[in-house]
Amino acid sequence: MVIAIDGPAGAGKSTIAKLLAKKLRFTYIDTGAMYRALTLKAIERGIKPRNAKALIAMARNTALDLAHTKDGSLRVLLDGRDVSADIRSPCVSRFVSDIAKIKNVRKVMLSLQRRLGREKDSVLDGRDIGTVVFPDADKKFFLDALFTERVRRRYKELKALGMPGITLKNVAVDLRNRDTIDSTRKCAPLRRAADAVYIDTTKMTIPDVVHTLAHVLHRDTGSRHG
Ligand code: C5P
Repeated sequence: MVIAIDGPAGAGKSTIAKLLAKKLRFTYIDTGAMYRALTLKAIERGIKPRNAKALIAMARNTALDLAHTKDGSLRVLLDGRDVSADIRSPCVSRFVSDIAKIKNVRKVMLSLQRRLGREKDSVLDGRDIGTVVFPDADKKFFLDALFTERVRRRYKELKALGMPGITLKNVAVDLRNRDTIDSTRKCAPLRRAADAVYIDTTKMTIPDVVHTLAHVLHRDTGSRHG
């Protein structure tokens, strides 16, 4: 079974997807983390976002994996190295959307995401899961929230990670920038699938959102865990 969760940055997708996967005993697949890991590698190698040719070659020669630890956390492995913390840096956030808009980079990610998603019952979150990666997903959700709320949440998250130099203003600039690139790119833009359940999480608590998703799943797919 595949559950797709899409939406803009800061809408709570990864928090919700992780908790929902735990509740259902499904595997959580963070597709944004994959684009972030590629971006980190490009930065380390000094490959500019406009150098599509080099980025595509790099993507084809990169081993990306998601490892699930016993305590339930997700580790992102880039060529065997744990980069789970490094991929959250503002520098990665700044360039990730420019790299994620390259069609042949997405192609490499698409086949990896499909393979991982088919291996086990999975919850995947991202921008194009319900529209492109798994258009036939068993259930699709589109999580959204007001821009100011999304900025506030991302700011809190980054502060909690101990990232230096984080301000509400630079978080707002980053989210606005990524939302624009992600929703206007030609290849697999951020879009709500026609059959996705839309949920505005602005005024909802995290348990409320998880409960709502589980309820919808139980109602529509007969999932026993709802
Ligand atoms: O989910 P997260 O905010 O970590 O994703 C980082 C970036 O990766 C997004 O802003 C977007 O550019 C890209 N992305 C994507 N398609 C996905 C997941 C993420 O283009 N399925």
